[in-house]
Amino acid sequence: MSYLVLARKYRPQTFDELIAQKHITETLKNAIKTDHIAQAFLFTGPRGVGKTSLARILAKGLNCKLGPTITPCNKCKNCLEITTSISADVIEIDGASNTGVEDVRSLQNELLYPPQSSEFKIYIIDEVHMLSKNAFNALLKTLEEPPKNVKFIFATTEPHKVLPTISSRCQRYDFHRIPIQEIINQIKKITPLEHINFEDSAIFLIAKKADGSLRDSLSLMDQILSLGKEKITKDDVLQIFGIVDIDFYHTLTKNIIENDNKKVIENFHNIVAEGNDINEITLGFIEYLRNILMLKIGISPEEVHPDNIAQLTEFSKDFSEENLLYAITILIDAKEKIKTSSHPILFLETTLLKLTKLKSLISIEQLESEMVVAEQQKAYIPETKPSKIEFVHETIAKKKIEQEKVVSKPEIQEDKKVAKPPSKKISINEELLDKEWSAIEEKVRNEMPVSAIHLSRIKLKSIKNNFLHYTTPSKLAYQTLRDVSERLTRLLTNHFGTRTKIDFEFIQTEKKKYINNPTIEDIKRESPKLAEMIDTIDGYIVGQTRE
Ligand SMILES: [Zn+2]
Repeated sequence: MSYLVLARKYRPQTFDELIAQKHITETLKNAIKTDHIAQAFLFTGPRGVGKTSLARILAKGLNCKLGPTITPCNKCKNCLEITTSISADVIEIDGASNTGVEDVRSLQNELLYPPQSSEFKIYIIDEVHMLSKNAFNALLKTLEEPPKNVKFIFATTEPHKVLPTISSRCQRYDFHRIPIQEIINQIKKITPLEHINFEDSAIFLIAKKADGSLRDSLSLMDQILSLGKEKITKDDVLQIFGIVDIDFYHTLTKNIIENDNKKVIENFHNIVAEGNDINEITLGFIEYLRNILMLKIGISPEEVHPDNIAQLTEFSKDFSEENLLYAITILIDAKEKIKTSSHPILFLETTLLKLTKLKSLISIEQLESEMVVAEQQKAYIPETKPSKIEFVHETIAKKKIEQEKVVSKPEIQEDKKVAKPPSKKISINEELLDKEWSAIEEKVRNEMPVSAIHLSRIKLKSIKNNFLHYTTPSKLAYQTLRDVSERLTRLLTNHFGTRTKIDFEFIQTEKKKYINNPTIEDIKRESPKLAEMIDTIDGYIVGQTRE
């Protein structure tokens, strides 16, 4: 006794049986009703979503003895022959195995003969993009002058590979991936008919694994049924398909949040020891973090079983969007490298350990701002949102800022004493300023270490009567230095022994060159002091985000 695979046994036979593609079936039904049936159709979409099933249903709708009809009878000779693929008037060609020009030539010859016992001669060409260029061209000739009563239905998973000259002659229909819930509903319709018993969580896993393809979900069920078990559990599904249980990712994420390196590695070693594939583990974790990110931005992903939504939502509070993006990015990177690495385990270990450092990441803008806040003891609110965010280690940076606060405090108080204006009259010129600049810088660094960082971002515009006028392209440098300009004025007056004044002007320049792809070198050019500090705290750019 032969076993009919589920996908064939439960293949939809009417327009209404086809699930999740209502946007297409309704249009086609309408075309049949109003007798506006195109000469050629192009069905595009992922595998296993119903393209060839619908092609056959459409063929039946056109050739049914009752037709053209939107409800083919599935009983007449024509319908039954189409169902069993023996109709002489509905010719199915697999583009993948008939790529030669000869096949299309014979098709052209055959087109000369009218349909035998039906209204239309219908060619269903699956994976049409696989046809060779010559075959395409031969096909095109046919499409340019199609014989009456001939219809073409092309199906493809890769529409961009179909020549525009072909697709432009077709009515195109894009099939959707089938939502997990629809696949689940379908499986639940079939299980009682087949007298099989699946745990709900097992069905969910199958539907998820099928990745939008109903046919795949039914093939997966075939595989499981071959075990001959009475009741199929979640563990059966995990084991047969090598799926990593979500509980592992829950624990791993918890360990990462708690910064528990030891447990991260122990858990990882355990799951590997259980025989799970490194690629699967990595991919699974990428999906898991992606789902946390989705929840973070307010989208409930269908790939997450309702039972797990609460846990993932909870985790989403422990990460910033930037951190999640960073984590996903380095995992994707790791996934690529693991493929070719001779030590994939070591590679993933390192990546996971990097993730435990997630919480100590901070954006450069944030770092700059905090430095200013630490000095000025007030919040700095940027007028425009930063267009990029790079990260450096936050904790160390914070420590550094704390140190600066301690160092600068007594001197700030000392500075409050009004400096005595000296009587000596000297004229400051550019040459003198150049000569003295490093000494001045040193003094500013001692007294106002955070403001000193911005000295490298200013440019002398003019000196007039000991009035130093500087410009800067950096808004932050401008705001910081402007706020301490009185202190700087006193410092300069004391330094030169003559009354001196300093002020600053913000000059908007063209967009930063590194905006798309900043490197540490770009940042050094923009702000050497900041780069120096990043070096000191052993920070490094780990990623960027753009708005
Ligand atoms: Zn019929």
